[in-house]
Amino acid sequence: MLSNLQTRDVETLLHPYTNLATFRDTGPLILERGEGVFVYDTDGKPYLEGMSGLWCTSLGFNNRELVEAAAEQMGKLPFSHLFGGKSHDPAIELAEKLKELAPGMAKAFFCSSGSEANDTQIKMIWYMNNALGQPQKKKIISRQKAYHGVTVASASLTGLPANHLDFDLPLPGILHTSCPHHYRFAREHESEEEFATRLAEELDALIQAEGPDTVAAFIAEPVMGAGGVIVPPATYFARIQEVLERYDVRLIADEVICGFGRLGTWFGSEMLGMRPHSISVAKALSSAYLPIGAVLVDDAMDDALTEQSRKLGTFGHGTTYSGHPVTAAVALKTLEIYQRDGILEKVRAIIPTFQKRLRALSEHPLVGEARGMGLVGAVELVADKASKRSFDPKRMTAAKAVSFAQEQGLIVRAVANDTVTICPPLIISDEELEMLFDRLEKALDRTAALRD
Ligand code: PMP
Repeated sequence: MLSNLQTRDVETLLHPYTNLATFRDTGPLILERGEGVFVYDTDGKPYLEGMSGLWCTSLGFNNRELVEAAAEQMGKLPFSHLFGGKSHDPAIELAEKLKELAPGMAKAFFCSSGSEANDTQIKMIWYMNNALGQPQKKKIISRQKAYHGVTVASASLTGLPANHLDFDLPLPGILHTSCPHHYRFAREHESEEEFATRLAEELDALIQAEGPDTVAAFIAEPVMGAGGVIVPPATYFARIQEVLERYDVRLIADEVICGFGRLGTWFGSEMLGMRPHSISVAKALSSAYLPIGAVLVDDAMDDALTEQSRKLGTFGHGTTYSGHPVTAAVALKTLEIYQRDGILEKVRAIIPTFQKRLRALSEHPLVGEARGMGLVGAVELVADKASKRSFDPKRMTAAKAVSFAQEQGLIVRAVANDTVTICPPLIISDEELEMLFDRLEKALDRTAALRD
């Protein structure tokens, strides 16, 4: 029985990433307020937000300093833009700060989301290669199970069937190579290292087949997020980068989830040994208090864009909200808090507990693999642990586990292949972390009891 507010929702809202048919009967969980790592529904029931919203509210839900930073900037200059030579202090300071945090990056371009950041990456590469007199070098290689967003171009980079099916995607010129998930895709008796080497050879063969002079860039999340929290083998990026360097293919790091402390370092690239030429960020850049994303680029990109613009005039890209002063002020305050409060050190201190409780779930009868890195993890639920056989997707096993967790007062998320993902705010305490895993374990027990 839906409440009045739920009924009004069902009658008026088209929800993103929702089964629009079944949702008419179930209705939404309506949240009203948040505090620390908890959010509260309209009945006042608290939920531990084990997903930081959508991998994003790194500083939790009632950070007054962020609210005040927004209010102060709103009161001073609520809007201005960066078009045609205009600028403002929050954007300049934020660009400086990002440059300081991301070694090798020369400049920042601001936008409003991760999707826009990745869209911008594609446009910049195309513009760059036109500038460099290699207009045929335009293809972008992504990976199966990658998540890079939902705009026409960024959804093409995404490597998940639901983002392509019936949307007539991917666009031509965007290719997908294999996903570095050893548990699912390694051959029998293939070590992690052998698997990584094979994937690099496969990439090499793909670039050769396409023609190296047609391939512009390779895009990768350090740890794949929405594809199921997939941590590549330790040698993966070293092998992949050897191939990219051989063919002068640029590496784009999609740091939209891993950026700003999720793995205990400023960028996931540091943990995974990636040496990107450009970086996409969003989400934790503002702790999600306001929508902001950015593309960070190296000198080569900056020079090429500038040269091309010298020839063509205007660099014809940017949105009304590129570098919005209020979002920039909130992002700046977020980065200040990370540094001032030693958030990364705190994350590093809590990671061992998180990983220990996560790994212990691999003993659970439903869990085929418990995996993760830093403060992000997942459990993949299987019908048979020995053979790794998956459940029939129609059974919606992970979705059931997530709904049991919700009853227990825990928000986690189900993604493809019956995988339950966990990504708590970076400010979570030891005690709250124990609570998260206790509740998740109970939810898994209840799901296991449903079998047959
Ligand atoms: N890249 C990655 C790695 C992401 O996880 C996401 C969002 N989950 C995006 C890009 C897209 O970001 P947005 O939803 O802000 O457009």
